[in-house]
Amino acid sequence: MIYLDNQASTPCDPRVLEAMAPFWQRLYGNPHSIEHGRGQVLAGRVEEARGQLAQAIGADPREVVFTSGATEANNLAIKGAALFAQRHAKSKGRGNGPARCKILTFASEHKCVLESVKATVAWGFDPVILPVKTDGLIDWQAFEAALDDSVMLVSVMAVNNETGVIQPIADIAEKVHAVGAKLHCDAAQALGKIPLDVALLDVDLMSLSAHKAYGPMGIGALYVRRRPRMRLEPLVSGGNQERGLRSGTLPLPLVVGFGVAAQLAAEEQATDAERIKAWQDACLDRIAQSPALMQINGSLTQRVAHNLNISFLNLDRDAMLRAWCSFAVSSGSACSAADVEPSYVLTNMGLSPAQAAASLRISFGRQTQQSEVDHLLALLASPAMERA
Ligand SMILES: *Cc1c(COP(=O)(O)O)cnc(C)c1O
Repeated sequence: MIYLDNQASTPCDPRVLEAMAPFWQRLYGNPHSIEHGRGQVLAGRVEEARGQLAQAIGADPREVVFTSGATEANNLAIKGAALFAQRHAKSKGRGNGPARCKILTFASEHKCVLESVKATVAWGFDPVILPVKTDGLIDWQAFEAALDDSVMLVSVMAVNNETGVIQPIADIAEKVHAVGAKLHCDAAQALGKIPLDVALLDVDLMSLSAHKAYGPMGIGALYVRRRPRMRLEPLVSGGNQERGLRSGTLPLPLVVGFGVAAQLAAEEQATDAERIKAWQDACLDRIAQSPALMQINGSLTQRVAHNLNISFLNLDRDAMLRAWCSFAVSSGSACSAADVEPSYVLTNMGLSPAQAAASLRISFGRQTQQSEVDHLLALLASPAMERA
């Protein structure tokens, strides 16, 4: 099985595993038990990891809140901002609803962002799901038309998990801040893939996930800007860990692993991207030369090197799945082949449900080998891609 599903999850880097090992084996204990020496050592190691992560994204360590993953970070960012605004904003003639009542997001966002935005209805907000264009980039006209001083928060992903399309976060930030709103960015797919600096991007909140960047599963983080201060209401109550924003004992081995993974992501992003871009280019060449009808989904210029999203225009879904059975690639659906729910990311970019169902996401990783790419190139040129 050739693993080309790195946008679903990346393997742990061996250097990350090595850094975590002592904390599973010998250095047990609670990093919050700072009344004894062991606890203090562990607390120091947590702060070291927080520093590594902060440095990787150009943040202050005090701006990093560890969570269980990007799903939780996105929930905390969106629901936490909405709850805080609802509790603290003075109402302006809208009953008890917040003065800035709109939360904007886009149709190609991850489910956990879309569902979190929709959930804010409960606190008096109007969720607005804006369209993306056929190339997967945001519809700038619709965005500007929706943006005014009734907007509290905008949530846009840095890199799309299905198409690898990169949104222009810094340009979006300028517009969002011009109307006094805040910007949240789901950067789960961006860490290690593109340069990521919170000051350059000018975001107020940014979500990360370790297992999308060669770190362990079960940990992520939310960047929460200090200047100007981004205020959130916590969603989890308890012992007030993480500055009261996320109670619960920190999973020390995972924290340590995430710190190392983030450091490696920053250090190796450029060299990883250069190597992987050559593979993407080789695949695009092969697809262009193929007599079979294949369509690449998503912008070719605003895209990470790690992703190819292909629609097979003369294969049905079953033929496509048979041809690709020795590759671990994503077919955009968690359901069985008989009960297909086509990707909403692709249908919202204008693909028909049948086209979306006959599409695959191929995602390369740091551990991908040239020999594996050679198998991929051979398949792309094979008659199996042409069968009607
Ligand atoms: C994977 C992913 C998430 C969810 O992250 P978890 O850490 O698995 O909860 C959110 N957003 C995007 C864009 C992702 O790719």
